[in-house]
Amino acid sequence: MADCVFCRIAAGAIPAKIVHQDADVIAFEDNAPQAPFHVLVITRAHVSGLPALDDARLGGALLQVVRKVAADAGHGDDFRMVSNNGRRAGQSVAHLHVHVLAGRPFSWPPG
Ligand code: AMP
Repeated sequence: MADCVFCRIAAGAIPAKIVHQDADVIAFEDNAPQAPFHVLVITRAHVSGLPALDDARLGGALLQVVRKVAADAGHGDDFRMVSNNGRRAGQSVAHLHVHVLAGRPFSWPPG
């Protein structure tokens, strides 16, 4: 989608610090990091969010990349993954993404 910032990153039209990419999934550093390690894992295809994901294989691929980027950065046993879905949950970009955060303690419940 031309007006989707994450589609534009996937297409290479907006620069990003990419840490992983394959045919289905891309991972890149969040440009407003909330932890020493903060990567976003997105589907290459436009999906508005988790409620719109009806492809179990793609969901599995996304999760495998979450695991891989955390492990590659040395955080494989100690990270948080977050997916905000809907405005009240804090979703600001309407393209499915998972935040992978590590490198500091995290509290619970989330704000
Ligand atoms: P959310 O608010 O859960 O939808 O998360 C969207 C995330 O995308 C935020 O953490 C933003 O900092 C991040 N973000 C927005 N634009 C960019 C960009 N061009 N490059 C990297 N991260 C971005």
